[in-house]
Amino acid sequence: MVKGRLVAPEVIRAIVNKHKFRFRKSLGQNFLINQKVLEKISEAAGMTGEDLVVEIGPGIGALTQYLAEKAGQVIAVELDRSLLPILAETLADYPGVQVVHGDALKVDLDQLVREYGGSQWGPEGLKYKVVANLPYYITTPIVMRLLEEGFALQTMVLMVQKEVARRMVAAPGTKDYGALSLAIQYYTQPEIVTYVPPGSFMPPPAVDSAVIKLELRCEPPVELVSVETFFRTIKGAFGQRRKTLLNALSNAKLGLSKEELADLLNRLGIDPNRRGETLSLQEFAALANLVEGHKLQREEYL
Ligand code: SAM
Repeated sequence: MVKGRLVAPEVIRAIVNKHKFRFRKSLGQNFLINQKVLEKISEAAGMTGEDLVVEIGPGIGALTQYLAEKAGQVIAVELDRSLLPILAETLADYPGVQVVHGDALKVDLDQLVREYGGSQWGPEGLKYKVVANLPYYITTPIVMRLLEEGFALQTMVLMVQKEVARRMVAAPGTKDYGALSLAIQYYTQPEIVTYVPPGSFMPPPAVDSAVIKLELRCEPPVELVSVETFFRTIKGAFGQRRKTLLNALSNAKLGLSKEELADLLNRLGIDPNRRGETLSLQEFAALANLVEGHKLQREEYL
């Protein structure tokens, strides 16, 4: 058994060589080797013995060990089968950890926590946390899936690419503001915890990273008639960034003519010549609600 923290390069090399493990760039395998960063991640998750944490992509288990020391239970979902024997070894002294072979893009987290954590967890019960140093090739699909599926999550603390973290927290009118900012801010209250340079990983990634904390909202920040229309309106507004809001929306297949859209924007006091990236979450919500209301009214007449 390999003893010692899994952050020292020689410890990692020893275990990797022993198991003839090969790093797979295609799976975003950049393992954390900076103890301070591992501590910051587990601190940001604010864990106690009462918590259940799902870790996505445990790798060789460096972060998992930290999580296991603070949380009551950890369920770690790893896609790469060749890491399972390594995890069996590095986590042997941590009875509160359950390693599951699975794909974060497919696994039903609510079902997983009930199966391994107990029936007190999940939609009708206690909320749990997700902590992960995410594989960067699928960061946005994973995060959006976890939010859109409506899993019983309380908090997520995630290592992501620095640019992605900046987009998640961006305010209207800034260059990083876009559909991702609005989606993240609709579901959560995001906060960047710290920035992390490439040298904190083995092998180092080509980009800078950041730890972001996403606190899930108990209530949505705006009332929506249709969540689908809200996101379709946002997608339309950002679909053609150089166009005015009115032109971008008219091409967005919202089911309304350009004249109807111009009328709705006027009613909201939104200048149709503005660009989508200047609209706040509240303005998008008001616009989407009018779009939906207008469509419903028209259907009633038909
Ligand atoms: N947690 C470890 C650490 O911090 O050192 C490893 C993080 S590494 C950036 C990403 C991990 O996610 C790798 O172990 C990789 O095999 C795993 N992974 C990649 N795609 C995945 C997926 N779809 N579902 C679950 N795990 C995945």
